[in-house]
Amino acid sequence: MKIISKLFDNEAKCRGCNWDTKTLYSFEGEQGTNWENGLCGNCLADMLEQGNYHVTKGDFEKAYDILMEYWDCLPDERKMEMDKKLQECGV
Ligand SMILES: [Zn+2]
Repeated sequence: MKIISKLFDNEAKCRGCNWDTKTLYSFEGEQGTNWENGLCGNCLADMLEQGNYHVTKGDFEKAYDILMEYWDCLPDERKMEMDKKLQECGV
């Protein structure tokens, strides 16, 4: 599945957390043009993690952008935890 994003001129609501964001993410073809079901970077990352999704190379660049956005939302103690996990994965 390809991850797609849309940048909104005005703030849009994330379906997951109701957070106002300018960028929503979704899967290509799944929502069509219906961005009411879009997720913010944080919720998308949570969904990928909880759903045990695997990122393939084609999605890497986009996934990296999402991770960076997710990273910015994390409290410091979670950053350290994530950093440790990433190092264990050899990233
Ligand atoms: Zn959200």
